[in-house]
Amino acid sequence: MNDTEDPIAWLLRQVDEDERLAQAAQIRTEPPWSREPWPESPLPEADGVVDRNGDGIVVARGSCIGEHIVNWDPARVLAECEAKRRVAEAHCPVVASSRVPHGRACLICHWPSDWPCQTLKLLAQPYAGREGFPGELRVEKPNGAPLIASRISPQ
Ligand SMILES: [Zn+2]
Repeated sequence: MNDTEDPIAWLLRQVDEDERLAQAAQIRTEPPWSREPWPESPLPEADGVVDRNGDGIVVARGSCIGEHIVNWDPARVLAECEAKRRVAEAHCPVVASSRVPHGRACLICHWPSDWPCQTLKLLAQPYAGREGFPGELRVEKPNGAPLIASRISPQ
C-alpha cells in the first residue's frame, strides 16, 4: 500500500485477490467438492478431495486436512468475499461533511472520529501478514501483539 491509498481500498484489493483465485479454481473444477478415502495414495491415512465428477483435486494426509479443503472450496470463498464486501460497504459510506475526518464515517458504529471503525479493522485482520497491510487497520492486544496472528502471505 502506498501512503495515499485508502486502507479500505487496500482491504478490498485483498478480497479481490481471494476472489480471483477462487474463481480460477472454480473454473477448473466442478463444484461442490467432497472428500473420499484415497487408499492408493502413498500418504498414510490419505483422503482425496474430488469435484462433483469425481475428478481428483488434491490428495491430503489425514481426513481433517481433506475436510478443511472441502470446507473452503471456491464456492465458500466466493461467498466469504461477497460478505466481506457488503460489510465493508456498510461500514464506510462517504460522508459529505467537514466535521468528518477522512470524508468517511461509520454510521453503524457511530465512531466518526475513529475511522476505520473497529468492524473494518477486525475484517482486515486475516490479511495482517500481507505486504502493505495498512497501519490504520492494525488491532493489537493490550501487550502490543497483533490481535490475530496471521501467516497469510502474498502469492
Ligand atoms: Zn463500523
